[in-house]
Amino acid sequence: MTTSHCFSRPQGLTALLLLALALAAPLARAFELPPLPYAHNALAPVVDEQTMQIHHGKHHKAYVDNLNAAVAKEPALQGKSLEDLLAGISRLPPAVRNNGGGHWNHTFFWASMKPPGQGGAPSAPLLAAIDRDFGSLDAFKAAFKTAGTGRFGSGWVWLILTVDGKLQITSTPNQDNPLMDVVTERGIPLLGNDVWEHAYYLQYQNRRADYLEAWWQVVDWQAVSSRYAAAAK
Ligand code: MN
Repeated sequence: MTTSHCFSRPQGLTALLLLALALAAPLARAFELPPLPYAHNALAPVVDEQTMQIHHGKHHKAYVDNLNAAVAKEPALQGKSLEDLLAGISRLPPAVRNNGGGHWNHTFFWASMKPPGQGGAPSAPLLAAIDRDFGSLDAFKAAFKTAGTGRFGSGWVWLILTVDGKLQITSTPNQDNPLMDVVTERGIPLLGNDVWEHAYYLQYQNRRADYLEAWWQVVDWQAVSSRYAAAAK
């Protein structure tokens, strides 16, 4: 008798919780933290292991958790893709902008890097477009670095393809990105680098320019070239 009382309450509670979860599941469609596509130490010595652990496991995870919490408060947003949310972000709460941007940007960022020496080179069509719009690959890299060092505070530097088919370097504050309707320089992101201090501070401290320079060693040019090929169609 005592035993049955001991168990009936927790079991009832568990059943209720399971029912609530089952009812919520079709609506929730929660965003998920994607696994890193390589080991935490794979980008060393360009990006150190501890930075990658904290950056992916703490920072990116927090954006995902906070995005899910923000979307849970807005029934009209549930089931929408992240890209749909970003395209209409001007009408959405700041928590969706900050955390939705954070989730998209970091997912894109992890997929833009490869271990040092494994990222290949720009494809011929991408290199031709870089030469056309920046003069040379070196000139492009220099301009990208200038945009990264010039971003005051936290933000991102991007290579985008604009609607008129041009390559352009842009920079956004905080977790904004070129897919958002609040951003003036919009386009299809081909490459992005995170210039928040959390991306480099453990290893580079205040030397953002050194981080931006070293980062080319881990850029996945095959990924950038594929994005260009898809976007230029
Ligand atoms: Mn970051």
